[in-house]
Amino acid sequence: MQKSYLQSRPVVIAGPCSAETREQVISTARALKGRVNYFRAGIWKPRTRPNAFEGVGTKGLPWLVEVQKNIGIPVMTEVANAHHAELALQYGLDAVWIGARTTVSPFAVQTIADALRGSGITVLVKNPMHADLKLWMGAIERLENTTKGDVHALHRGFSSYGLKKFRNAPMWEIPIGLKAEMPDIQLFCDPSHICGRRELLQSVSQKAMDLGMAGLMIESHEDPSLALSDAEQQLTPFDLVKLLDNLNIRDLTLDDKHITDLRDLRIKMDSIDEHLVELLSSRMSVAQAIGEYKKENGLTVLQLSRWREIMKTRKAWSEEMGLQEEFLRGILEQVHKESIRIQSEILNSEKK
Ligand code: PEP
Ligand code: MN
Repeated sequence: MQKSYLQSRPVVIAGPCSAETREQVISTARALKGRVNYFRAGIWKPRTRPNAFEGVGTKGLPWLVEVQKNIGIPVMTEVANAHHAELALQYGLDAVWIGARTTVSPFAVQTIADALRGSGITVLVKNPMHADLKLWMGAIERLENTTKGDVHALHRGFSSYGLKKFRNAPMWEIPIGLKAEMPDIQLFCDPSHICGRRELLQSVSQKAMDLGMAGLMIESHEDPSLALSDAEQQLTPFDLVKLLDNLNIRDLTLDDKHITDLRDLRIKMDSIDEHLVELLSSRMSVAQAIGEYKKENGLTVLQLSRWREIMKTRKAWSEEMGLQEEFLRGILEQVHKESIRIQSEILNSEKK
């Protein structure tokens, strides 16, 4: 990445999740020109299940080169193995990113780092799927050890299982931890893969800016409803510009150590509370499922033996975790009361 870009915030990287056709790539790039510093498009797509669209592959490379040469926007794509990395160099792409599923594997990262050895290409390293700061740092170091270009960090959130607000929990304390450990690394944020849905993009982008991140990577598709991957989270170029215009970029004068220390602790607390709310919501969904089961099978809502068992096991857990018994009892009683209310509602609805 050219250093001059880093002087204005945010550095914007935008483009479709996947390159689908030459026409789509070219017209999206035309629509974004002037508002973005980098054009992104995946041509090799890591998909969770086979038979999903896995990208157009190597045939998309000339389309990206066209964006670079004819439209004049630097481009980047994801590389997941040495072959991809060699092709990115061969076609003269400006930058590449390492995806979250690749960052988890030091072997994979090392083979990419070896393939890029000595080159001046810019590399953005996404955080690993799970919350492991050291693994993220290790991947950045592997790239720094072999390449001569800039290496940046790209925060895309962390995977978790079950009902949740975000596709990938932001856990802001982790990128903040990275910045503390590696102050020279520029941090970028990828709100698209954190949010998983359009409605959340504005606030997550704003948060990234408030934390002083250097730039944003946001997926943009001409017609998101037709996108072959990540349809729910992409913005039209028009909406992307609207989002950027709505950002409030505050000057960061956070040299006061007390302010930053306190801010970092509060971010940690916010992140935990957000998680608590998600967990409570998951718990109530289970209560609902239990209510439906009881209704179908003619069982009563309150089963005292179960409540006694709950109290016994939770008491032991709280002791292990160093929590006051009384404190936990109060919380559990509230949670239990709400579960009973949900289940009673289900049973009563049957009587109507
Ligand atoms: C992507 O950027 O399209 C992508 C697959 O990202 P991630 O590695 O964050 O899932
Ligand atoms: Mn995507």
